[in-house]
Amino acid sequence: MLTPQDILGSGGLIARRLDRYEHRQEQLAMADAVYRAFCTKKHLAVEAGTGVGKSFAYLVPAILQTAGEITAGQQTDSELTGEESENVPPRAVVSTHTISLQEQLLEKDIPFLQAVLPFEFTAVLVKGRSNYLCLRRFHTALQKQDTLFDDRKGKEFQRLSEWSKNTDDGSKSSLNPEPDWEIWNETCCETGNCSGKKCAHASKCFYNTARRRIANAQILVVNHALLFSDMAVRRQGGSILPVYQYLIFDEAHTIEQAAADHLGLSVTQSQIEYNLNRLYNGRTQKGLLMNTDIPAATAKSGQQAVEECFYGSELLFQYLSEWLQKRPGSNGRIREINVVSNPLAAPLRKLSAILREIADKLPKPDDRTELKSARDRMADIAGNVNVWLTQSLPEDSVYWLESSFTGRGRQRISINASPIDIGPILREHLFNKTASVVLASATLATGRQSS
Ligand code: SF4
Repeated sequence: MLTPQDILGSGGLIARRLDRYEHRQEQLAMADAVYRAFCTKKHLAVEAGTGVGKSFAYLVPAILQTAGEITAGQQTDSELTGEESENVPPRAVVSTHTISLQEQLLEKDIPFLQAVLPFEFTAVLVKGRSNYLCLRRFHTALQKQDTLFDDRKGKEFQRLSEWSKNTDDGSKSSLNPEPDWEIWNETCCETGNCSGKKCAHASKCFYNTARRRIANAQILVVNHALLFSDMAVRRQGGSILPVYQYLIFDEAHTIEQAAADHLGLSVTQSQIEYNLNRLYNGRTQKGLLMNTDIPAATAKSGQQAVEECFYGSELLFQYLSEWLQKRPGSNGRIREINVVSNPLAAPLRKLSAILREIADKLPKPDDRTELKSARDRMADIAGNVNVWLTQSLPEDSVYWLESSFTGRGRQRISINASPIDIGPILREHLFNKTASVVLASATLATGRQSS
């Protein structure tokens, strides 16, 4: 059985491959420590400065560990494999903060190790669902483009449409330049907006294909945002990533902020307006509520309800702005509940009821799915605004307002909340549920004594 020393050490597999290879003692020490942590199912924090070669020092143990030596503690992943009780091999997740590090791992380090090691292993980049084109949503938009897009968006949709005919993986990053975000949001895969096995495009679905590749991989490379999104979904009983036993955080000094971002909430006026405009844009006369299958009178009442929500949103953020103006020098922290009334709540309830009524009567299932998903989004926003105003996140949290100005001088306010101490959440949902977590960074140590 190979050890990290056999691969990274003097006279090891890499040294035999590269004439000018010089093994590094710090790298070997780190690789040994990571390997021991994996073997003994312990967690490890390791600070490795520039030049140590830390990516090899965690990749090599992760590859060795998932290459088949450890079978005890295997877990099942029936959701991904579709086969109940089938054992999946041990799997390691490498989570990074930056895309540049992901590129280095996937384009350089991992291919090199695949060439050097005497056995095969699989490693894939995992992207979030919204990075893939949803063929069902795309075809629905194709049929409805006249009622959904104005001229500018129509041209962009045309470009996306051409790309969709030739793309291999349906991944947003393969369209160059990347698509306009509004067009992409209208056509990408979304949680809660998937027809699952009933989807006519399921056999060609880009996201399903990506998930199958992920289910068969030993090493998954993700970013912190996806890792913590997965953790947040797991808290609700679901998952984005398949079961894994080993987790390596590189650039680990950034995880506290990344975790806090995903465990709290944030709502902006433009986010509300964007979602309302998707339903009905009075200026362009486009949106889901312009669907000609909706009886005219019902569509009209839906459009009016959207206008009322716009007004409610405007008022809510005006009240928040006034609250801030009355407290010059305030850092925006909110310590009391219901600091302003919520003029958006009632119009959103009304809109939600109308959307449900319309969706239930739409003849085409794909249109129903799309409208229900839009309604769910509005419900999420309504829930978040209410949670923020009543300060009712489950954890002890901090609530605040942020104010900035756009280039045109328009004030932009966001409402935000985040748990004060993410430690207990990480312990419960990450450290206690993962066999071994390695935190690696060039700058991890705290409380260092000065010399
Ligand atoms: S299976 Fe879901 S994600 Fe895939 S194309 Fe169909 S609706 Fe879209």
